[in-house]
Amino acid sequence: MLEKVGDTIKVAFFDRDGTIIKDYPDHDWSEVDQPEFIEGAFDTLKEVQARGYAIIIVTNQYLINEGFISFERYQSLSDQMLKRLAENGIEVKDIFYCPHRRDEGCRCMKPNLGMIEQAIEKYPDIDLNRSFMVGDSACDMELAERTGMAGYWITEEHTCKFNNVKTVKSIIEITDIVKGEFVWRKS
Ligand SMILES: [Mg+2]
Ligand SMILES: [Zn+2]
Repeated sequence: MLEKVGDTIKVAFFDRDGTIIKDYPDHDWSEVDQPEFIEGAFDTLKEVQARGYAIIIVTNQYLINEGFISFERYQSLSDQMLKRLAENGIEVKDIFYCPHRRDEGCRCMKPNLGMIEQAIEKYPDIDLNRSFMVGDSACDMELAERTGMAGYWITEEHTCKFNNVKTVKSIIEITDIVKGEFVWRKS
């Protein structure tokens, strides 16, 4: 399934909350028993996969260490999400999550590079030059910029302060981007 050039794989890194599944105010997460998918997420991930990208999710989950949700709830939501994706023919290569509090100063919370570094350590064949990052938050795009990856920012904003980032109105626009093999690059 994965397109290989030499020994490398290209990866579509996706944020989770607000990108693949719905996001909520921090306090409301304790009531969330099942993930609610964002419209277009299945079709988009399918197309991304069909174009030879491995799908890796990188998600800030400060909700865990800040006590909004238990680790068990995080795990349950994550497992349910993966199951629903698998039922739709979508294979997620891996999920990296940061459980730390925002004041812990960890290395993995986006926009820090830790989760991308973990991914590369685990899968040394990843070629960041052929990979991209999709997310709905500025921290996702700051991470993309720090790694040199192309970024696709799901936002209503019209102005974008990041160099290597294209704004899209919804996740489904990513399908056109990967179909055209269009990758936004710094010139
Ligand atoms: Mg998000
Ligand atoms: Zn962390």
